[in-house]
Amino acid sequence: MNPDRRPLIAANWKMHKTLSEAVAFVESIQKETGPLADREVVIAPAFTALHALREILRQKGYSLAAQNCHWEEKGAFTGEVSPAMLKDLGCAYVIVGHSERRQLFGETDETVRLKTTAVIKAGMDPIVCVGEVLAERERGQTFEVVRRQLEGALRGFSPAQMAGVVVAYEPVWAIGTGKTATPAQAQEVHACIRAALAALFDKTIENKIRILYGGSVKPSNIDALLSEQDIDGALVGGASLEVGSFKSLVQFTI
Ligand code: PEP
Repeated sequence: MNPDRRPLIAANWKMHKTLSEAVAFVESIQKETGPLADREVVIAPAFTALHALREILRQKGYSLAAQNCHWEEKGAFTGEVSPAMLKDLGCAYVIVGHSERRQLFGETDETVRLKTTAVIKAGMDPIVCVGEVLAERERGQTFEVVRRQLEGALRGFSPAQMAGVVVAYEPVWAIGTGKTATPAQAQEVHACIRAALAALFDKTIENKIRILYGGSVKPSNIDALLSEQDIDGALVGGASLEVGSFKSLVQFTI
């Protein structure tokens, strides 16, 4: 972690929690942690809970994210949700290009770019996910894959548009598997991402952008991961679903 970048812990609830469960969780976690000054917490519930959570997610340091969106502003796209609708619901962030969207719903680098563009245009910050599958890591292609995904998502943006972008490095082999990249493995990919951002943009952007690590982050490994220079926070699935474990993540110390 670098003191110039505010650490961010994001909860990706995927397709978990009914409305009442989501509300109960957010009420408890805010009570347990109190307002946050030196870190930011982002909750990404299912679409169905966004409106209710906007009403109660009032504590300092907390904000709301959606897990996905369409790239068009409106139109005949049955079942889709537009960035403007999410902004209207109080979302500050949208997760874009999560590996589950890429693997299960056919998302490509091009659709990730379209969504990233639409999210920025609507006035929110995208959390752009990149990461290699196990076979790519074993073939030594991790850096190449991550660079290609980053360029695919972010090419053509101006430094001003990039100001609030967050990148999440999520090795696919570590998501929901209990296998975490070691802090050193994660750090070397985060450094590669930062170098790729410098090549795509400039030094200011390179130093400003927060890069989260995701993949079986839990209370027992968060401190070591966040101790690394280029790891600015975590995107968390499984361990964000229980108030106890999420509270420990939010209260990380390095
Ligand atoms: C995720 O879904 O983004 C994720 C990192 O999940 P988990 O923490 O369960 O590996």
